Amino acid sequence: MAVKKKAVKAAAKKAVKKKAAVTKKAVAKKKVVSASDDSTYTNFTPYKEKKGEEYMNPKQVEHFRAILEGWKKQLMDKVDETVHHMQDEAANFPDPNDRASQESEFAMELRTRDRERKLIKKIDESLANLDSGDYGFCESCGVEIGIRRLEARPTATQCIDCKTLNEIREKQFGK
Ligand SMILES: [Zn+2]
Repeated sequence: MAVKKKAVKAAAKKAVKKKAAVTKKAVAKKKVVSASDDSTYTNFTPYKEKKGEEYMNPKQVEHFRAILEGWKKQLMDKVDETVHHMQDEAANFPDPNDRASQESEFAMELRTRDRERKLIKKIDESLANLDSGDYGFCESCGVEIGIRRLEARPTATQCIDCKTLNEIREKQFGK
């Protein structure tokens, strides 16, 4: 009986250990996801259209303004975070052996920051389009890009057809 109890206890201990490992793994995975998550913004409630509602009416414009501004803020916070992180790390005077790895880490962070800056610029362009009334219409053919596509890609300037056509052309001509 005592042996059995011991075995159960050991098994429970093992299970706890296993659970801890899984949690650690999940956290690490989550971090990676959030790092590559800059290109999308999901922190909003999908817009519910009323029947016969006019496309890009003031309510829809406000909806997309909130999305674009929220996304921009998220990206700007991230840029700040990167700068602070690099300042902190650089102040630690690492061992020369660590320097190479630190430099490649910095190079990666700088690339990320550069990408975020470009994205912020695109968001600003979209906000300007919202003001001028061009937002939500394809810049190539003029059709409505559509609420759902804009929610998935708030900086989209082309309808899915023109975008697809462009991508095919780019592939063919290596533009
Ligand atoms: Zn189009």
